[in-house]
Amino acid sequence: MSRIAYVNGRYVPHGAAQVHVEDRGYQFADGVYEVCEVRNGHLIDMRLHLDRLDRSLAALRIPSPMSRAALERVLKETARRNRVRNGLVYLQITRGVAPRDQVFPPAGTPPGIVVTARALNSAARQKAAAEGIRVISLPDNRWERVDIKTVGLLPNVLAKQAAREAGAQEAWLVDANGFVTEGASSNAWIVTLAGTLVTRPAEHGILRGITRTVVMEEAAALGLALEERAFTLREAHEAAEAFITAATALVMPVVQLDGRPIGQGAPGPVACQLRQQFHDFAEICP
Ligand code: PMP
Repeated sequence: MSRIAYVNGRYVPHGAAQVHVEDRGYQFADGVYEVCEVRNGHLIDMRLHLDRLDRSLAALRIPSPMSRAALERVLKETARRNRVRNGLVYLQITRGVAPRDQVFPPAGTPPGIVVTARALNSAARQKAAAEGIRVISLPDNRWERVDIKTVGLLPNVLAKQAAREAGAQEAWLVDANGFVTEGASSNAWIVTLAGTLVTRPAEHGILRGITRTVVMEEAAALGLALEERAFTLREAHEAAEAFITAATALVMPVVQLDGRPIGQGAPGPVACQLRQQFHDFAEICP
């Protein structure tokens, strides 16, 4: 089946989808993005993702290319045209096309927008969750505004590749004080031996993950203790469990950190429960 992309107002064959060479996303990573899970054909937590998109755009003073309602229609339509039942939609908005110059282009320059969608292999995702993933730690060398979801992801790309080359699936980034910030593409959590969930506060050191927000609500509803505070690698090594959260990974157990098993070296009961019941707490878009 042929894939379709939405590019600046038109649905086009994915293979022929193009943006201009002077799109500022391409030249300067001057743009923002969102990734939304599609489950059983429905977009998950779209409202929260679009709220965060608004915050990212406002932080960078990029105007929204269209109304919220229009954006929702494009996201759903792109998922529909690609017949995605289970997978993701990707949305990217840049400061548009202009002669290459770092200063902002003239007001009125239309922002660029691209939306794509693709299916994910549900069986492979389930298998990964049943086995748990391996994580390595690396220094966090990103800029200070990682709370903005920009397409400037080079440090994340390098960290993820280092993880891959080390036989791991994610990299946990560690700040100058020895505290874990987050994963290259996920938020980081541990469960202490006393059963308390710990995850870093959503200040400027991390992206405020939508999955993280929903899991916090879920944890409260399930009566689990939660501390929003930074934790060290040592605490992670001594934890009962660890896991990551992200829109496409959902709640993914971490079973190894820097080559050493966490807890029993298998997915823990808290992570498994949070994963299993996640969609009871997420907003399913009609
Ligand atoms: N942190 C980073 C750096 C990420 O790239 C992501 C995934 N986009 C997350 C956290 C998780 O965010 P969300 O739960 O909204 O997918």
